[in-house]
Amino acid sequence: MTADESVLRREIVAAMVAMDEKGLNHGTAGNVSARVEGGMLVTPSGVPAHLLTPDSIVRMNFDGKHEGAMRPTSEWRMHGSILAARPDVNAIVHCHSRYATTLACAHRTIPPLHYMTAVTGGGEIRLAPYEPFGSEELAQAIVETLDGRLACLMANHGQIAVAPTLDFAMMVATEVEEQAAVYHGTLAIGGAKILSDAQIDEVMQRFAGYGQKKKG
Ligand code: 13P
Ligand code: ZN
Repeated sequence: MTADESVLRREIVAAMVAMDEKGLNHGTAGNVSARVEGGMLVTPSGVPAHLLTPDSIVRMNFDGKHEGAMRPTSEWRMHGSILAARPDVNAIVHCHSRYATTLACAHRTIPPLHYMTAVTGGGEIRLAPYEPFGSEELAQAIVETLDGRLACLMANHGQIAVAPTLDFAMMVATEVEEQAAVYHGTLAIGGAKILSDAQIDEVMQRFAGYGQKKKG
């Protein structure tokens, strides 16, 4: 195992624990992956976050071949298909966070009601059609719905966030849940006022210069 891989294993466990602590996940719901040479590291299936160890993280290729005694997440096809289709993505976070799941169960998308919806790479946060958990059909539906974006809702299921790094994917998943909660709230007071495509485009340009960029 390379030094990078052992760091990633610890980061994946920390991400699963953090999702429980932030209220983004519970029980054995959700899973995390990260790209490594020749494949990916994924969380094991059906293990609650507090019982995960770096050794329990499963190394596998995108076709299902894995090492060790632990069985990989039932959603390995979804993780593998995204990593295979998206060279810009190195980490994936899937969770059943409450408000995102509430909207996904009502087959709602999240409109661009707040400028931070644009962290997903566009205005509207889309909804992937329902397919059974763990299925190849779900994997394909998610790849098609993301279509270059960093997150989407999953009908009757939850949400998924993808990014160049695991920290970024966690930030996106957290923001999707926040936007879902805000949208849910606005539905109770007459609905949200939606930002235009031009306003979202301007936000995306501002994001390019936001924060602590490297000098020169
Ligand atoms: P796993 O425990 O197999 O990762 O499944 C949890 C889940 O969220 C399925 O969609
Ligand atoms: Zn799930």
